[in-house]
Amino acid sequence: MRTVWVTGDQLNRRIGALADASPGDTTVLLVESEHALAAGPYHRQRLHLVVAAMRRFAEELRDAGFEVDLRRAATFRDGLDAHRRERRPETVIATEPTSRRMERRMRDAGVELVRSNQFLCHRDDFADWAADQRSLRMEDFYRWQRRRLGYLMDGDQPVTGRWNHDADNREPPPSDGSWPEPETSRLDELDDDVLAGLPVNAWGADPVGWWATSRRAALSRLGHFVDEVLPAFGPHEDAMTTRSWHLAHSMLSPYLNLGLLLPDEVCDRVEVAYRDGDVPINSAEGFIRQVIGWREYVWGLYWLWEDHAEENVLGHDRPLPPVFSDPPATDMRCVDDAVGGVHERGWVHHIQRLMILANLTNLAGIAPGELVRWMRTGFVDGAEWVMIPNVVGMGLWADGGRMSTKPYVSGGNYVNRMSDYCGDCRYDPKARTGDDACPFTTLYWDFLARHREVLAANARMGPVLGNLDRLSDFDDVRSRAAEVVDLLAAGRL
Ligand code: SF4
Repeated sequence: MRTVWVTGDQLNRRIGALADASPGDTTVLLVESEHALAAGPYHRQRLHLVVAAMRRFAEELRDAGFEVDLRRAATFRDGLDAHRRERRPETVIATEPTSRRMERRMRDAGVELVRSNQFLCHRDDFADWAADQRSLRMEDFYRWQRRRLGYLMDGDQPVTGRWNHDADNREPPPSDGSWPEPETSRLDELDDDVLAGLPVNAWGADPVGWWATSRRAALSRLGHFVDEVLPAFGPHEDAMTTRSWHLAHSMLSPYLNLGLLLPDEVCDRVEVAYRDGDVPINSAEGFIRQVIGWREYVWGLYWLWEDHAEENVLGHDRPLPPVFSDPPATDMRCVDDAVGGVHERGWVHHIQRLMILANLTNLAGIAPGELVRWMRTGFVDGAEWVMIPNVVGMGLWADGGRMSTKPYVSGGNYVNRMSDYCGDCRYDPKARTGDDACPFTTLYWDFLARHREVLAANARMGPVLGNLDRLSDFDDVRSRAAEVVDLLAAGRL
C-alpha cells in the first residue's frame, strides 16, 4: 500500500495525488500538527474551519472505503514518522503543497510530490507566461486565462466585446438595499470536539455556523450564491455599509482555499447562470475575474517572487497599533466595523481589506509584515500565498510597483463616497487638521509628503502630488499627522 499525505488545504478527491487513488491501493494520512495550530496565533474560526474540514473529509474518505490515518501530533514530521513506523507504507506521496515551507518539509522527509491541479494555472505555466511578458499586468494574465480556459468567450473574443465590466461595478451602497442572508450550518458534536482542542492562544469569536466545513455544505453555499446572490454582486462589489457585513459577496474563498470547492466547478456554475440569462454580465464577469484572474495571478506571483515578502520600499517600520487587537476600540467607525468584523467572523470583504485595513496600515507607516501576519492568521481564507502578494504588492505597494501601478491610498473622501460609515463617525472626512479631522484624510496628505520622492517617479501620481503642492495648510497637516500617529499607537483614536 502507498500513503497519500493530504494537507488541510487539499481536501478534495479530485486534487493531485488523490485523483487516481482507490481504497485498494491507498491509505490516506492527515496530520493535525499542534505546533502549526499554535504557531499563529490564529483566529478560532480559522482553526475550527481547517480542523473540522479535515475531520469531515476523513469521514468522507472512510465512507468511500479508504483506510484513513487522521492523527494529532506535536509536529507534521512527528505525525509522518509515527505513521511510517506503524503502517509501513511502500511509499508516501503528496500533492505539491501550497507553501514553500511545507514543500521543503515534505522534500526533507522523502515525500514524493505529485503535480497539483488545485489551480487552473499551474505555477510552472504561470512562470512560462511571465517569461514572455514585458510587465506582469493582472489584466493581461486574466485575458490569457479567459482565452485558454474559454470562460465568457465567443470564439476568441469576450462575449460582450468587452473584457472588463469594472466601470459598472463601482456603485456606492444603495440607501435602501437589502441582500440575501448567507446560508449557515448547525454546529454538531464534531465541531464541539474541535473547539475543545484548539490551542489556548487562539483569538477571536467562536464560530456560529457562517463557515461550511464539508464539501457537501460548501457545494450548497455555491448553489445559494449563484442562484440568490450573484445577480446583485457586480454593481455594489466595492461598496461598504454598516447595514450588511456580507452584501452580495460570494464568501466562497475559504472553500476554494481549502480545496472543498475547485475553481473550475465554481466558474462553470457562473458561466451556465450567465448563458441561461439569470445573471448579468457585470456580475458574472466581475466574479470570474476574481477567480481565474486575480486569485490565480496572486498564486502565480507567490511562487515566482520568492523575495516578495521582504519588500518594503517605503521603509515602514511601526508595529500594528492596538486598534487591531481583540476587541477593537476606536472612534473611527470604518475601522471599528472592519476590525470588529474580523474578530467576529474571521472575514471582511475585499474593499474593507484594501481601503480600510491596508490603507490605514500604509498611511500610518506600519511594517508590511505586521499586516501580512495579522491577515494570514486572522482571516478564514488566510494563507501565505494569498496574503503576501495581496498585502505587500496590492494593499501596501511595498514592492514599489512590481504588482500595482500606484498605491491604493485614500483619505476619508473615498470612504465617505463608497460607504455609509462617515455620517455617524466622530471624525469629519473632509477635515485634515484639528481634533475632529478624519485620520485617513490627515495621514493621506502626510503619506504623499513623506514619500513624494518615490511617488514622483510614477506619472500617475502627478495630479495628486500637484494637489499636495497647493495645500494652504501643509505645515498644520504635517503636525496633526504626527499627533495622529502617536494617538493611533497609544490606542486613543
Ligand atoms: Fe473612517 Fe474617517 Fe469616515 Fe470616520 S470619517 S468613518 S475615520 S473615513
